[in-house]
Amino acid sequence: MSRKYRVGILGATGMVGQRFVQLLENHPQFEVTALAASDRSQGKSYAEACAWRLPSEMPSSVRALRVEAPRPPLECDLVFSSLPGGMAHEVEGEFARAGYAVISNSSAYRMDEDVPLLIPEINHEHLRLIERQRDRKEGRGGFIVTNPNCSTIMLALALAPLHIRFGVESVVATTMQALSGAGYPGVASLDVSDNVLPFIENEEEKVETETQKILGRIQDGKLVHAPFNVSAQCNRVNVSDGHMAAVRVKLTETATLEEVRDCLINFSSLPQELRLHSAPARPLIVRDEPDRPQPRLDRDAGKGMSVTIGRLARDRVMDYRFVTLSHNTIRGAAGAAILNAELLLATDYASFGSRRA
Ligand code: NAP
Repeated sequence: MSRKYRVGILGATGMVGQRFVQLLENHPQFEVTALAASDRSQGKSYAEACAWRLPSEMPSSVRALRVEAPRPPLECDLVFSSLPGGMAHEVEGEFARAGYAVISNSSAYRMDEDVPLLIPEINHEHLRLIERQRDRKEGRGGFIVTNPNCSTIMLALALAPLHIRFGVESVVATTMQALSGAGYPGVASLDVSDNVLPFIENEEEKVETETQKILGRIQDGKLVHAPFNVSAQCNRVNVSDGHMAAVRVKLTETATLEEVRDCLINFSSLPQELRLHSAPARPLIVRDEPDRPQPRLDRDAGKGMSVTIGRLARDRVMDYRFVTLSHNTIRGAAGAAILNAELLLATDYASFGSRRA
């Protein structure tokens, strides 16, 4: 097998950073060689700095790696970023200008017009936007690719086949988002025990605008956002992992319930064709039981990379309604970013070659 690409993780000690470390263990194309976090962690070994909170053991390959500052240069070919939004803009920009491919989870660059907001099953052609970043010639050939917000990903994946086949006219989504979505330590236990919090800062705006960008099309080299409106209300619920959303959708063309169901079940795209390592065999799983999906039972479907849809029915106000669910730190964060990197490797849009040793 050819040599693996060396990977750095920014924000490596956090909820998403730990998922990156877990999912990259024994990855056929990537090897973790650099870890970065705040000055609280810098200078310590990863084992000392990181309070590991995932059920599997911390991989032995990273235990002794020294945690560094999130500044270039790092000993790697590309960086996965799971830094807090506030600082991600400066740091990710700095890595891109220094020639690194930056595959980011944070919101800092998601809505920039020359940055792909990528879900490989939906908008792989948006990778062409990378050429526009390079046209700016500000740095040494690096670039930024982002993945959407953890709730947007499952919504966009559920809408994509419907939009392609029937056209989406408008969408109303009410999310029920897990605690791990707020990072660690996240929401105070006294706030969330026996409670639901009907506010997650900036989340509704992200779901509404990111969905339009993801389902947009490139015309004359520029991205034109999808024209339909999304109305989102976001709630934090007392669930450890797994975001859920109750969705109502109005379609442009008439469709029967059977057609809508078939369209969702049969959805498959480039990552499945290319057999990318992290691509689930079925991006969307439709369940017919009246009480599914549920976070505890369905978040790990497709190793956390499938989105589960249930409660599909006609709606009296809009056309159809359903409930969608996915694992927020896997398909909603680290797994999504790794799939993005696998797609980059498999296509001609980008090369990590300039930094490969
Ligand atoms: P988290 O658990 O709070 O982890 C934050 C990470 O960033 C830690 O590694 C922390 O290092 C590091 N960090 C904090 N301040 C820093 C600084 N000043 N300099 C350098 N490193 C710093 O957060 P998270 O849930 O993993 O989220 C990380 C990012 O992913 C956020 O932008 C979030 O919006 C996005 N995201 C999260 C999810 C999710 O489900 N959690 C889903 C999608 C996207 P220390 O340990 O040293 O403090």
